[in-house]
Amino acid sequence: MNILLTNDDGVRADGLSVLASRLSDLGTVYVVAPDRERSCTGHAFTMHDPLRVDRVAPGWYAVSGTPADCVYLGIFELCPTPDLVVSGINHGYNLGSDVFYSGTVAGAVEAALHDIPAIAVSMGYGPGVDFGPAAALVHALVRAAQSHRLPEGTVLNVNLPGPAHVRPEVPRHHFMWTRLGQRDYHKRVDSRTDPRGVTYYWIGGPPQANDDPPGTDAFAVHSGLGSVTPLTLDLTHHDVLSTLPTWQLTGFTAI
Ligand code: MN
Repeated sequence: MNILLTNDDGVRADGLSVLASRLSDLGTVYVVAPDRERSCTGHAFTMHDPLRVDRVAPGWYAVSGTPADCVYLGIFELCPTPDLVVSGINHGYNLGSDVFYSGTVAGAVEAALHDIPAIAVSMGYGPGVDFGPAAALVHALVRAAQSHRLPEGTVLNVNLPGPAHVRPEVPRHHFMWTRLGQRDYHKRVDSRTDPRGVTYYWIGGPPQANDDPPGTDAFAVHSGLGSVTPLTLDLTHHDVLSTLPTWQLTGFTAI
C-alpha cells in the first residue's frame, strides 16, 4: 500500500514525523508537505505562482505551497498513486467549524476529491504533548478501513485530546464515533499602528467555552476521548432543497 502524508504545520513538524514512523509498517510512506507552516490556509490552491519542490530525503518532499497543493503534486507528479492520504498530525484541534479553515482537513479533502481515501488527524497541542495515541488511532483506522470500504468522497476527521483535556481516569485508547460540533472563538480584531503610522490588524480570538452537545467531536475531546467524524464532500442542504420549490421567484420559472 502506498500512503501519502501531508500536513499544514510544515515538513519539519513533530506530528508529521511521528505519523510517518507509526504508519511505516502498513506500506510505503511518502511525504509531501509545505516547506513552512501553512495552518489555517483552508483549501487554498496555488494558481498564480510557481511551486518549488525540495527533496529533503528519499520519498520526502518540501513544497512552497499549501497542503492542497502538496496532495495534488503528490498524487499526480511526485509519488506513485496513493491508496490512502493522511494529513497531520496537526498541532492543535480541528473541531466543528474549524474544518472550513483547516489546512490539515483540506489536505485530506483534496485526496477525497480525487477518490482517494483520506484521513485528517489533529491533536490538542501544549507542553508535554504525546502524538503517539493519535498515530496509533490512525494506524487502527487504516487497518479497519481495509475491510470496511468507505464510500468515495469520504474524509475521516480524527481528533485526540491534548494535554489540557487528557483525564487520568479515561484510558487513552477510548474514543467516540462523532458528528461535527461547534467550536466558538472570541471575536476579536486587534488594530495596531505600524512604524509608518499605518493601521494594520490581527484577526481572530482564542477558543471560547461552549456547551458541547453529546455525540459531537468537541464533546469527545473535551471529555478526554478520541473522536472520529466521517465528513462528506456534498455540501448540499438536502432538507432546504426539498422546501425551495415553495418559493416563487418573480419573473422566473423553476422547472
Ligand atoms: Mn496546523
